[in-house]
Amino acid sequence: MSYYCTQCKKEIDIDYESSGVRCSYCGHRILVKKRPTTLKRIEAK
Ligand SMILES: [Zn+2]
Repeated sequence: MSYYCTQCKKEIDIDYESSGVRCSYCGHRILVKKRPTTLKRIEAK
């Protein structure tokens, strides 16, 4: 699952089984789940 760090804005792959939730670049502990940027619009006729 992909997350990104709220501090350094880098993308992180979290491995829950190893050392828990933490940014591997800066050590920040607040990570946000990355959302797909593709928005689908359904137009009703
Ligand atoms: Zn970070």
